[in-house]
Amino acid sequence: MLRLPPVVLVATIAVAASMAGCTAAAPPNAASSPRAVVAPPPSPSSAAPSAVAPPSDAPATPAPATVYPVTAAELGASWRPGCPVEPGLLRRVEVNHVGFDDQTHRGELIVHEDLVPQVITIFERLYVLRYPVEKIRTVNNYPGATDELSMEDNNTSAFNCRGIPGTTQWSQHAYGRAIDLNPLLNPYIDGAGAIQPTNAAEYLDRDRTDPGLLHDGDPAVLAFTDQGWQWGGFWTTPIDYQHFERP
Ligand SMILES: [Zn+2]
Repeated sequence: MLRLPPVVLVATIAVAASMAGCTAAAPPNAASSPRAVVAPPPSPSSAAPSAVAPPSDAPATPAPATVYPVTAAELGASWRPGCPVEPGLLRRVEVNHVGFDDQTHRGELIVHEDLVPQVITIFERLYVLRYPVEKIRTVNNYPGATDELSMEDNNTSAFNCRGIPGTTQWSQHAYGRAIDLNPLLNPYIDGAGAIQPTNAAEYLDRDRTDPGLLHDGDPAVLAFTDQGWQWGGFWTTPIDYQHFERP
């Protein structure tokens, strides 16, 4: 542990706090700032009783987001030599999200280091909106980091070293600059009408208003586009309702 930089130590402490929060029935009091990030280590006086408790009607934010470096080993099948971004430029970001059970959960995204502050802001906003996200796991949790398996599982994810289907170009996911949100509810539809994931047919009806489905003008879409991200739901061929990117 002593060889870890201060940032990691801060993150480790925050995670320990968040884990405690996850196992508790009630959300813990937000004694620390809910907006955290890769900040400098707190000053020795941080325990001073100057922190102001949030109003009781404020949305509970149980733990700050935390940021970690990643290694090639941790990326598993989602990265290989020859990918356009080295592991050193990627970060693992732990964020809070509301699940379809209306409870707070913790998820992990791998994104480009340049986008870490934006990604934290976006997921904090989704949390305050109580936009439900089923799960957020890194794609190497699925055999071969296979995107189809992650999508079928309605798993929200970001980095994956893969190409754009049907092309020889890298996807923005290969740069850690794209996020697929609730992909089963928000499928990808190619020019021939084929869908990904293949179990998403019932969600081709975009007049549906189930929680988690994304529509033009939805606050959850604005959480991304207000940060300058592009939404694949505005595309025509393909249409990619799950996809947000910041090239
Ligand atoms: Zn995508």
